[in-house]
Amino acid sequence: MKIIDAHLHFSKCGHFDAIASAAGHENTAAHLERVFAEQNIVLGIAMGEMGGTRIPGVCTPRTPEFSGMGTPDGELPPFIAWCAGVESGEIDRKTLSRSLELFSAVLRKKNCVGLKFYPGYNSFPLSDPRHDPYFELAEAFDVPAVIHTGELSGRGGLLKYAHPLAVDEAAVRFPRVRFVMAHYGNPWIVDATATAAKNENVFIDLSGLAAGNFTCGWFCKKYFAHLDHIRHWLTYLDAWDKVMYGSDWPLVNIPAYIEVVRTLVPEEHREKVFFGNALRVFPKLAPPAGL
Ligand SMILES: [Zn+2]
Repeated sequence: MKIIDAHLHFSKCGHFDAIASAAGHENTAAHLERVFAEQNIVLGIAMGEMGGTRIPGVCTPRTPEFSGMGTPDGELPPFIAWCAGVESGEIDRKTLSRSLELFSAVLRKKNCVGLKFYPGYNSFPLSDPRHDPYFELAEAFDVPAVIHTGELSGRGGLLKYAHPLAVDEAAVRFPRVRFVMAHYGNPWIVDATATAAKNENVFIDLSGLAAGNFTCGWFCKKYFAHLDHIRHWLTYLDAWDKVMYGSDWPLVNIPAYIEVVRTLVPEEHREKVFFGNALRVFPKLAPPAGL
């Protein structure tokens, strides 16, 4: 089965090297390329990271922060596309046009395929009008807005802004923008399901439901009830064209996580969830430009 990983991190930021080894991986492009080849993963979509290099006073597009990960000339390898990260707290009316120019420039690149928002970590409501010009940009470039929904790591952010219901309001106000609820809003699975069921422009990625290095058997036994809960609500939603596989690498062991996600998806829907849906949600990946 051919796979697109619709949500990962390709970054030397923070503790990603240590996190990768805890998941049984090495946080290098060569290692990821080898895992991709072994698992028939043809492409990964890396999220623009928070923090990192910036232009003072301007909301600057955040890259995956791949320095030390990319090719020697600093480019991303061909098996990685990316979403430009938006730092909500940096958006400033006075420098908005400069910021939008910078975002437009990266969105003109073939491998920049979406925008990524972190309202929970940034402690800003997604409904704050500061985000509107960026949603308009997503519409103009026909790329999705990927929203971190669900649990937050660390104590800095605010969970209330990471709740999947926040995506409902954005999806209603911007009906021509595709919104991806990253991590299925976990553990607010029921609320995320209602949001996806109501809005035809809302999609789900299944990344980040687990972290670390484990066997599928161990994980499925330990988290049987939670996996059953997720399976139950995916079945209730019954919209398999809205659901995408993602790993959140380097947080998790990829082969084991693929096995876990396979247990959530009926066989007849796996091609869509693991591959086809990503091409529709991220159309810049689709032929003739990409895959
Ligand atoms: Zn992530």
